[in-house]
Amino acid sequence: MQPAAEQMRQVAVFGATGSIGTSALDVIARHPGRMRASVLAAGRNVEALLRLCQAHRPDHAVVADPACLPLLRDGLRQAGLPTRAHAGDEALRALAAGPECDTVVAAIVGAAGLGSTLAAASAGKRLLLANKESLVLAGELVIAAARRSGAQIVPVDSEHSAVFQCLRSCRPDGVRRLVLTASGGPFRGWDRDRLAQVTPAQAVAHPKWSMGPKISVDSATLMNKGLEVIEAHHLFGLPGERIDVLVHPQSLVHALVEYVDGSTLAQLGLPDMRTALAVGLGWPERLDSGVAGLDLLAQGRLEFEAPDLHAFPCLRLAREALAAGGTAPAVLNAANEEAVSAFLQGRIGFLAIPALVEDVLAALPALPAASLDALLAADADARRLTRDRIDPTAPRTATA
Ligand code: NAD
Ligand code: MG
Repeated sequence: MQPAAEQMRQVAVFGATGSIGTSALDVIARHPGRMRASVLAAGRNVEALLRLCQAHRPDHAVVADPACLPLLRDGLRQAGLPTRAHAGDEALRALAAGPECDTVVAAIVGAAGLGSTLAAASAGKRLLLANKESLVLAGELVIAAARRSGAQIVPVDSEHSAVFQCLRSCRPDGVRRLVLTASGGPFRGWDRDRLAQVTPAQAVAHPKWSMGPKISVDSATLMNKGLEVIEAHHLFGLPGERIDVLVHPQSLVHALVEYVDGSTLAQLGLPDMRTALAVGLGWPERLDSGVAGLDLLAQGRLEFEAPDLHAFPCLRLAREALAAGGTAPAVLNAANEEAVSAFLQGRIGFLAIPALVEDVLAALPALPAASLDALLAADADARRLTRDRIDPTAPRTATA
């Protein structure tokens, strides 16, 4: 039986044109009787957003860049859609917090997602959190806001979705440790000499997952796993020492939870983010996600190995930032975003990414992170310093 229209889940998909956004809309479209996309938001790609509006007919569409607003408005009108057009982060925050949605898929890439993530967490929404950078930057604030408002955070990172699912079997105080798996990325087994020659095209060609360019590079440097250790710390309340990382090239076991009695639960599935999105959209019910079940006979062996922290220092740097606390994770995240962006533009080499993050972390000592302002100031300082180190001749005003 279909639920009445007022019981339909009203889903805001932020980052709708991206890899996670596309997967989220795929799952939503499989369940027209129980959920719909009521708000769609993207960065600058108006054409792609308009196509999504035609397919999903949301009530509201948002572009990040106000310069794109007239194009969006005209396109919606020409398509004869009643969708209202908005621009900018303030509109995004208002829609995240308002009655236009009860569920938010936070799938904007980078610290740019923090404002809307925090707004949804503060407004008591169900928050399907893919935007891990917002937890790295301001995890305490996001979790505290959700606790105050009663917002339910369901992680949409495959490892954290796996932990979320495994943890349903008992109270969290029975947990000894979490193990997050990592595919190892496209350069698993490479030494530093080979890594020095890596191109952006090679780095974004992930062997197992199809993802946006930033997280693909993060997976290649292992920074993604470092960000995920910090993310898991905030989501599940364990110290970094009790969150281990294991390289698992087949990407079928997404995480393991070890309990104090020696029992270990794992979650397995094909590497397709629609599973984690369906968990978030349906929880506690299970929904069809379009993802096939796992045929272990066809998949063959499951292998595990330790991460190579010498070739891939970013995982160590993230652990050090988590241990230092305060503003250090915000600095790590901002320096990494700037370095990855420069690498993708061909301005720095692959090994310069960890080198820059390490330099900037050393130059900016961890300060207490008492407020959002302190964290945003640390983020801005780290970006400025990273850019200066990449191109010391650039004008100091280049902060956009
Ligand atoms: P992507 O690059 O494919 O998509 C990013 C989306 O964010 C796009 O829709 C883009 O238009 C939008 N965007 C960018 N800047 C914006 C801004 N300033 N304001 C509003 N919108 C903006 O990235 P992705 O791979 O979908 O990843 C999104 C987030 O999900 C990241 O935080 C990533 O770490 C996380 N994540 C992704 C995957 C995956 O499989 N892709 C897995 C786990 C976690
Ligand atoms: Mg992940």
